[in-house]
Amino acid sequence: MPSHISHALLVEESIDNTGGFSGKALRRNISADPVLRKIAVLGAQGPDIFLHNHRRKPRGFRYGAILHRKGNADVLVDLALQSRGEMPPPERDEVAAFALGYLSHVWMDRLCHPYINYHAGWRNAPDRHSDRPWMHAFLERIIDVQLLRHLRNLSVGEYGFVRRIASVREELLPLRRHIVRAIRSALWSSRDDGMLERRLANALYDSLGYYRFSESPGMDYFVEGRSLERRGEINPRWLALVHPPEELLMVDALNLERRPWSHPCDPSRSSNETFPALFHRALRRTVDTFDTWAMVMEGSVPPEQLRFKIGDQNLNDGITGDPPCRRVHCQPLPLITLYQQIKTAFD
Ligand SMILES: [Zn+2]
Repeated sequence: MPSHISHALLVEESIDNTGGFSGKALRRNISADPVLRKIAVLGAQGPDIFLHNHRRKPRGFRYGAILHRKGNADVLVDLALQSRGEMPPPERDEVAAFALGYLSHVWMDRLCHPYINYHAGWRNAPDRHSDRPWMHAFLERIIDVQLLRHLRNLSVGEYGFVRRIASVREELLPLRRHIVRAIRSALWSSRDDGMLERRLANALYDSLGYYRFSESPGMDYFVEGRSLERRGEINPRWLALVHPPEELLMVDALNLERRPWSHPCDPSRSSNETFPALFHRALRRTVDTFDTWAMVMEGSVPPEQLRFKIGDQNLNDGITGDPPCRRVHCQPLPLITLYQQIKTAFD
């Protein structure tokens, strides 16, 4: 998962670059309809919603992990097939907006995760530093901050993520039922889980709580976080879960300098692509596969065509296969030093 703002930016760009997809799967134009736009941003968080489900029980956390490994083509095909049936048109538009967002999540994760793993490392790679496991999340949040500046010239505070995503106020009940049906059709292991709908609701509540809590933290937040850490009252990873202060980010997390990097599982797949270039690749794939999604919904192409186009690459490294490939190769940015510098700036 790149972090939530990067995912929101991708679906927003895909809506704005296409004039809102009206006339394809949608009666209403997403770019002109604030509720559909917010539902697309929610869909763009994909299975990450489940990964934020730490508090409310029964939890759906495991579905976050499973859906990063498999099942996404089936989820999307099922959403298209459900929309073919007897669904009231406003509900169909909501499912289409959600599917567009979900598709964008799939492409962004696949294309960007190898980049993030290479530049952040992972537990015990390339070193056993106790902060190493948090560097993945830390880098994703730095990318959020720098991508927002690069694409829109906005700060995290100016962007205001929370008002852009559908909240429980937006009456998501019918949509939630369609998502649950799609997950059941995609994952055998979910079929006898009678609590799935409750888990999804809990995951949504916890995610929205996390987004609100971590929205654009001010200086007080960092001073307080640091003082709690020094008293041993919170985990040292606290800083990796919020957007760090932009002025302290002395790192080229978007690779605008075009350093060479490679796929962590396969060093022969090398590149000097920037993060914005990966973002635009994900954008093209999203628009292209959503066209096919809309055609399946309309019944003009068979579902197999969509399933084939989405493919079964997992979301962790973009390579086909479960379990994920073995990661062996990384060359992280100086993130651990930066992490410490930011913390000590608030001592
Ligand atoms: Zn993800």
